[in-house]
Amino acid sequence: MSLSPHAADGTAPATPLPTIPSVDRVLNLPSVRALTETYGRAVTTAAVRQWLAELRERLAGNLALPADAFAEIKLAEMLEQRLAAARQPHLRQVLNLTGTVLHTNLGRARLPDEAVAAVVMAASQSCNLEYDLASGTRGDRDELIEPLLCEITGAEAATVVNNNAAAVFLALNSLGLRKQVIVSRGELVEIGGAFRVPDIMARAGCRLKEVGTTNRTHLKDFAEAIDAKTALLLKVHTSNYAIQGFTATVEEAALAQLAHKHNLPFMVDLGSGTLVNLRDFGLPQEPTPMDSLVAGADLVTFSGDKLLGGPQAGILVGRRDLIARIKKNPLKRALRVDKMTLAALEAVLQLYRDPDRLAARLPTLRLLTRAVADIERTAQTLLPAMGAALAGVAQVEVRACHSQIGSGSLPIDRLPSFCLALTPVVRGKGEGTALKKIEHAFRNLPVPVIGRVSEGAFCMDLRCLEQADMLQSQLGSLRF
Ligand SMILES: *Cc1c(COP(=O)(O)O)cnc(C)c1O
Repeated sequence: MSLSPHAADGTAPATPLPTIPSVDRVLNLPSVRALTETYGRAVTTAAVRQWLAELRERLAGNLALPADAFAEIKLAEMLEQRLAAARQPHLRQVLNLTGTVLHTNLGRARLPDEAVAAVVMAASQSCNLEYDLASGTRGDRDELIEPLLCEITGAEAATVVNNNAAAVFLALNSLGLRKQVIVSRGELVEIGGAFRVPDIMARAGCRLKEVGTTNRTHLKDFAEAIDAKTALLLKVHTSNYAIQGFTATVEEAALAQLAHKHNLPFMVDLGSGTLVNLRDFGLPQEPTPMDSLVAGADLVTFSGDKLLGGPQAGILVGRRDLIARIKKNPLKRALRVDKMTLAALEAVLQLYRDPDRLAARLPTLRLLTRAVADIERTAQTLLPAMGAALAGVAQVEVRACHSQIGSGSLPIDRLPSFCLALTPVVRGKGEGTALKKIEHAFRNLPVPVIGRVSEGAFCMDLRCLEQADMLQSQLGSLRF
């Protein structure tokens, strides 16, 4: 069947210009009707309208119509391509082969199966989010996970908000509104994506009092800054940079003592914060909320989706009276977490109760502790297929490299790893373009592959690729 302009009445057209068929006529073609079943009437009709409008525009501009513009099969194919493209989700799975395990732009922590199951339950069913099953009365969503957080961190009380930026903001606003907060100048950091300590402080309504210098701050700097206007002392973990050399920072314990001498709370923004001793897992040390609490901190804030390996969340743990003040702040309601976050967080925290199996079950820790020999094996497994797929385009080799933890944690520590390095066969002029083409081809795979360019090669760090097949099965779709 065809929509040739002659078809309607069988007579030859008076002018050589084709007539544009009506929307209804196109929609009534059997193969277009089939599309309606798959994609729905509304979007299929819109796609037909759009196509006919394009044809009209071409005719108005005296442009030739595409070949076979009215052939049913061609038409249905073209419509289906457009409909399928529009139905592609915009949030898609990618393979993070950047070598940065907790990559903020790629979604940070991947949730364990236990957390995914909990999210599915909370999302698809009714749940006791704010309902006390024992008494049959209204409950508090925080109470669902507060006991677990207290058990794991040893804190008196805990609460959760949307992310750690919100946690810091809420704590400052609750405890330091119109008052002064003292911070070391060396800790006035910017954390990727516009979290700047001085800005957050200003928006929270606190006056920032910087003490010390960029590289050295002493206890007496803090002591001299305390006055009647002071609300709290703050320590910010400078997670994403390290100052080396002639440096001095004040220990948490000393700051806590000083704060308490003046009846002030001492707060620590840990940023990442891990709930286990990473040394036990062969990883570089990272401070824990437990360390800060033992040192005397009254309030500690940290992220849910950094080293903790859970959903995006900001966790506050500490003194009961301070947490109570924070929970009473009306902003708490504006920054609260949803049921899916709580479900995921509870499931992840449960895994921490069994540290022996944590590295196997929590993806973040599993990837960070993955044996380098295992990563190399994955690289060797993939090498022949990758070499064949890139023949004439790039030279492929297995190369030792270093992964990063990411999300600002441990900026100077690197984890030994292996990558597949793709060096374009074109050398000199055109090499940069060739490299961009390779990057682009991998980014355009059905499951986009994100690597990084290093030393003239496109490198895919295989630390976060646990199944070689997820990459290998796609190589046939590479288009350069
Ligand atoms: C990452 C980080 C934050 C922000 O945490 P989000 O969970 O990303 O909002 C705040 N402070 C420090 C020290 C951080 O490292």
